[in-house]
Amino acid sequence: MNDKQPLYILPENVQRMLGRDAQRNNILAARLVADTVKTTLGPKGMDKMLVSSIGDITITNDGVTILEEMEIEHPAAKMLVEVAKTQEDAVGDGTTTAVILAGKLLENAEKLLDQKIHPTVIAKGYRIAAEKAQEILQKISTVISAKDDHLLKNIAMTAMTGKSAENAREKISEIITKAVKQIMENENIDLNNIKLEKRKGNGTNDTELIEGIVLDKERVNSDMPKEAKNAKIALIDAALEIKSPETETKISISSPEQLQSFLDQEERMLKDMVEKIKKSKATVVFCQKGIDDVAQYYLMKEGIYACRRVAKSDMEKLALATGAKVVSKLNELSEKELGFASLVEEIKTGEEGMTYVRGCKNPKALTILIRGSTEHVIDETERAIKDGLGDVAAALKEKKIVAGGGAIEVELARRLRKELTVRGREQLAIEQFADALESIPKILAENAGIDPIDVITELKAKHNAGDMHAGLDLFTGKIDNTLKKGIIEPLKIKTQAIQSASEVAVMILRIDDVVASSSKNSSGMPSGMTEY
Ligand code: ADP
Ligand code: MG
Repeated sequence: MNDKQPLYILPENVQRMLGRDAQRNNILAARLVADTVKTTLGPKGMDKMLVSSIGDITITNDGVTILEEMEIEHPAAKMLVEVAKTQEDAVGDGTTTAVILAGKLLENAEKLLDQKIHPTVIAKGYRIAAEKAQEILQKISTVISAKDDHLLKNIAMTAMTGKSAENAREKISEIITKAVKQIMENENIDLNNIKLEKRKGNGTNDTELIEGIVLDKERVNSDMPKEAKNAKIALIDAALEIKSPETETKISISSPEQLQSFLDQEERMLKDMVEKIKKSKATVVFCQKGIDDVAQYYLMKEGIYACRRVAKSDMEKLALATGAKVVSKLNELSEKELGFASLVEEIKTGEEGMTYVRGCKNPKALTILIRGSTEHVIDETERAIKDGLGDVAAALKEKKIVAGGGAIEVELARRLRKELTVRGREQLAIEQFADALESIPKILAENAGIDPIDVITELKAKHNAGDMHAGLDLFTGKIDNTLKKGIIEPLKIKTQAIQSASEVAVMILRIDDVVASSSKNSSGMPSGMTEY
């Protein structure tokens, strides 16, 4: 073949980036993601204000929320967002830590790539280090029991430190601990049993734990009873309305009698619906769809308490709590589909009423009613509560905790360096892995305006001297035994973060060829790519 003629194996308009360029570009993108969330790490971390395309504002410190709202496009950057999501699903907290670790692992790998160390060697070193790290973590964590209420509360407190809910930290941490313990069954914890409901008004400190389900709904008609004792509850996923025809159909009515009979017929149908509900012996109705005025009237006459347009997720929670079955056809409703609660009542909370369903058949149904002065405060409090719930649940499941403020990371790095002496170039990667771990206390310090070099030097000295729980206490700004100080986290945060961060770093490192069809989405490709 004529070697001057270019050979095309890919269609036109396909963008391709090869070798070192591809690596450099991917690593840069991943680092940018990590840099974005870096300033939010720890109790002195800053918040971000995110404004969506339609002007919705979110003010948060939560890693995964920031990254999800940013709608990141670069493929390698997206892989880091996935790390945050995995962390969120597995623990519910530690998302910033996981992303920072992944970014640091890649940043440090770049140094080795610059020294002409092959990516496979780095990947291997990282894998060895990650595996060993899991083993060491199990060994150096502290065992707790479900009875250690004080420690569990401290875990929730650590999760909430520095979030906007900080002033109500004590009280909310108690609520979190109590709630998780209450829903625990043997070793099983299903956080779905805890409903988070938000209501603007009062302060964050007025957040409360309610046994049962609280719905952001008033009864549909104020002439209905305000409460129902020993309530028999029907959950209906059907409209208690006469559906208006989808298309415009003309109904020709030529006399007043005809109109009357038409209206009478509608009324009969609605009355009939209420009849069916009455026959089931229900005293409370939660309807996922609408309830017509006429139906409301008949329900009221039967003394039934009813709410309309209840969210699907709430219907599911009500089913779980009261033992009711959601029915989608009224004909299917009978007494055995009903659920039970000893009291259903409307209580005015803030500006409007809410429906409280207490004394449920399932005593594990709980609601945390979150209060706060503005919507943004409430939303961020909710995220902090979710972190706390996830952490306390993780600690109760695994019964292992670690010292925070960078203590666990420094100890882990020290042991990796000491215990892993692989000969050859992988050792350099193991060193970089240990360095990446030490970036956590450094960033915690940096975000608090404390010199990171001083902090890491002192921490390493303390750890070398056998003080394995020495960490940066950001209440005082001093190095201290953070385990004793109650700055503690569940082990799971760290095992999960290290696992996903190292996996994604290895995966990105091993990519040396990026091929993308530009026709699909040109912005999805790293910029600066050459067309081939
Ligand atoms: P993430 O999304 O990773 O959970 P956070 O912003 O919640 O990020 O910060 C978690 C880090 O803050 C952990 O390393 C934890 O040990 C540390 N931390 C929490 N409270 C304190 C404290 N009082 N002093 C020092 N470090 C703390
Ligand atoms: Mg956190």
